[in-house]
Amino acid sequence: MTADPQPFKETPYWWEAAPRPELAETPLAETTDVAIVGAGFAGLSAALVLARAGRTVHVLEKDRVGEGASSRNGGIASGNIKMGFAKMIDQFGEARARAIFGEGVEARDDLARFIEDEGIDCGFSMTGRFTGAFRRHHYDRLAREAEFLNKHLDIGAEMVSRADQHREIGTDLYHGGVIRPDIGGLHPGLLHQGILERALEAGAVVHGGTEVTGLRPEADGVEVATNRGTLRARDVLVCTNGYTGKVTPWLRRRVVPIPSQIIATEPLGAETMARLMPKGRMLGETRNTYHYYRPSPDGTRIVFGGRAGAGTDDPKVKFRHLKKGLVEVFPELRDVGITHSWWGLTGYTFDFLPKAVTHDGIHYATGFNGSGVVWARWFAIKAAHKILGNRSNAQSAFDGFEFQTRPLYTGHPWFLPAVIAWYGWKDRLGF
Ligand SMILES: Cc1cc2nc3c(=O)[nH]c(=O)nc-3n(C[C@H](O)[C@H](O)[C@H](O)COP(=O)(O)OP(=O)(O)OC[C@H]3O[C@@H](n4cnc5c(N)ncnc54)[C@H](O)[C@@H]3O)c2cc1C
Repeated sequence: MTADPQPFKETPYWWEAAPRPELAETPLAETTDVAIVGAGFAGLSAALVLARAGRTVHVLEKDRVGEGASSRNGGIASGNIKMGFAKMIDQFGEARARAIFGEGVEARDDLARFIEDEGIDCGFSMTGRFTGAFRRHHYDRLAREAEFLNKHLDIGAEMVSRADQHREIGTDLYHGGVIRPDIGGLHPGLLHQGILERALEAGAVVHGGTEVTGLRPEADGVEVATNRGTLRARDVLVCTNGYTGKVTPWLRRRVVPIPSQIIATEPLGAETMARLMPKGRMLGETRNTYHYYRPSPDGTRIVFGGRAGAGTDDPKVKFRHLKKGLVEVFPELRDVGITHSWWGLTGYTFDFLPKAVTHDGIHYATGFNGSGVVWARWFAIKAAHKILGNRSNAQSAFDGFEFQTRPLYTGHPWFLPAVIAWYGWKDRLGF
């Protein structure tokens, strides 16, 4: 591997087009109908629904607004859950599995409709996603899954042989792969900015630099302590996902923060982009320490992400892992310049299912398992409808699953380096 030739920005590439907003500092109100903790996709989506329904809403964000995962992610819009459909049927039965899958389709369609109706210019496109088989036997597994999905859900998944692979991606690393036409991509920074603007227009008050330090449920509401004072809210919705901290210990025992890292290349030229990513699709692969990647929405550069290096906080080590991954897929990019390298935290649940739940008088929308572009908005809206008392809109196929924790887990994922090392070994041994 070559040394990296130039320094890179440690902020997301997405912030070039969508810089962190500078919101005027407004005093904290004494009371509000709803206080929302966290100003990512989830918090702001709930705020929009609640404000349009006439509620007073205060969104409290400890950092700059959108500093969390919502403006840092890969922008891949799937609405999938981290469990194959066949396994879902085994675990939950066919009717429930179909309902869960169907809700993913509904959530993704709803996001597309929202972007269209609100005129949010975030480059959303149903590009489809190609997933490369890292081992020969992975191709057979993908083919079985595609057949199953097509038979049960008619999604039009299509296998691509190794011989035809260059139609999809300019690499020989994979043993062919599968196209899922039902997955798209967008610019997450611009989507976040669009939701923020709509929420502000609807009357929500969004406070950056406001850390919630205490939540005390009372008979008719919740006392919310912050670093800028205290307010009383009739309802509180916590949308902190991978950034969940000590202020919500119950949630902290149930969400596992897992880092994910992305690099963006310098502009590569139209000819190179057309050769490496001829269809402009979202891209992924089957290895356990997998990479996800894509062209930037303007098609000029590659945005390449993964979990390699998740065991360290050192941005340079993380960078080296990812650059190595990029060169493995596209050897011709060995000497390409990297302009941005950044990371953020995803929030996983122990059953890999996202949640909109209420516990001890506090509402939570969380646990998007690395797929929050579609799910964060969706589950936050479910939680908002619950607060509004709209029972039918609040219902979900995910209702009723226990929000699990594990003995000895208090919010610090001490087991992560071992799990990642194990996944790396599995990849090297060919599983
Ligand atoms: C590198 C990366 C790549 C990803 N790629 C994809 C992808 O391609 N597709 C996909 O679907 N998903 C992806 N994800 C996941 C997706 O970004 C998240 O699921 C989603 O953004 C979660 O949104 P959220 O609003 O729940 O949380 P966030 O956007 O993380 O916001 C939570 C906020 O809560 C704030 N907060 C925490 N504690 C407090 C407190 N006490 N007081 C006030 N504020 C607080 C934090 O500062 C943070 O801003 C990726 C994530 C990362 C990090």
